[in-house]
Amino acid sequence: MSYLQGLRCQRCGHSLAPAPVHICPECLGPLELVYDFAAMKAELRRDAVEAGPPSMWRYRSLLPVGDAPVVDLGTGLTPLLRADNLGRALGLRNVYVKNDAVNPTSSFKDRPVGVAATLARAFGLDTLACASTGNLAASVAAHAARAGMRSVIFIPEDLEAAKITGTAVFGTNLIAVRGNYDAVNRLCAEAVDAYGWAFVNINLRPFYGEGSKTLAYETAEQLGWRAPDHVVAPIAGGSVLTRITAGFEELQRLGWIPETKVRVSGAQATGCNPVARAFAVGAERIQPVRPDTIAKSLAIGDPADGAYALAAIRRSGGACADVSDPEIVEGMRLLAETEGVFTETAGGVTVAVAKKLAHAGVLRPEETVVIYITGNGLKTLEALGAEVGPTATIAPRLEEIDRVLGSAAA
Ligand SMILES: *Cc1c(COP(=O)(O)O)cnc(C)c1O
Ligand SMILES: [Zn+2]
Repeated sequence: MSYLQGLRCQRCGHSLAPAPVHICPECLGPLELVYDFAAMKAELRRDAVEAGPPSMWRYRSLLPVGDAPVVDLGTGLTPLLRADNLGRALGLRNVYVKNDAVNPTSSFKDRPVGVAATLARAFGLDTLACASTGNLAASVAAHAARAGMRSVIFIPEDLEAAKITGTAVFGTNLIAVRGNYDAVNRLCAEAVDAYGWAFVNINLRPFYGEGSKTLAYETAEQLGWRAPDHVVAPIAGGSVLTRITAGFEELQRLGWIPETKVRVSGAQATGCNPVARAFAVGAERIQPVRPDTIAKSLAIGDPADGAYALAAIRRSGGACADVSDPEIVEGMRLLAETEGVFTETAGGVTVAVAKKLAHAGVLRPEETVVIYITGNGLKTLEALGAEVGPTATIAPRLEEIDRVLGSAAA
């Protein structure tokens, strides 16, 4: 498969040929992908990317898919919006919002799933599966439908209605589990061994993560082939933040963007803050928590890549912070009212943490800051409740408009 050489254990260095495995057979450490970087640097060119399709697949030569036919829903190349109104509210001069809520299934998960589904098919597996906090479910079900594969999806039973309907509609096997995400994930880890399905975020996890690097590639290209100074990204399992960081590092190694030290900051909900807490107390290890937050898509109490996310944040000179449920709703409203972007609770977390870090001086006024908006507000209407609704209900008479709007009518 072109530049992909194989898998390597991040703990003991043991190597393996590409296969649907995520744990080292020698020491049970996590596996990562190894590429022939020298060949990539010698052979790949930025202008070939620019001439590619208007989707994440313009970067396919940097992804571990080789010549395999990709499972393509048209994901990616989402807007990078210059956000001056939000910037003013935060006291920052160069803020951008990467709006990944507008992907085919309305979250960034279409990126990692596009890669994982492509590899699952290339490995000859016929069933796509996942343990999901909500958005992964819809993305896996949609990609399976598109690829003509069977899918089996496990979710905690208390997810938002739109995430359940928005998954079931693809004709999947959707299994709600009585328990939180961490319980669902433990069950699925057992199911990998029992059934041999392609669990995108378990046995295909090393491949899955790579899709999220396209968030960094696109950002750099959209900024005119340079990295931002500082990014803010949400953390659930810790994969997307880690892969965004890796994506910028890779472009620098390829010589496609100038050397920049990209500071990376992480965002969590106070009701599920294992990484933010470890950051605050200076701990090396992540202490698992029991999640209780409206940001259900971030409710992973025992994050698989939490330690890597924490290390990436510290190494970069960024920070990790958490925000309460009311602050999350405020964050959703702030982004909607300043920039016209409706994000789900996870995006509310990211915006509210950006605000907190701006006030603390961690995000600096002159830095080019990119805030990653990873999911769509239509999926978590419950979070806004009755707080957001009609300004008034009137009879169809002209004078009624004056009555309810008062001076705002003029
Ligand atoms: C899954 C998810 C995240 C976090 O992803 P990880 O890679 O698990 O850290 C962030 N935002 C949204 C909307 C998600 O669905
Ligand atoms: Zn090992």
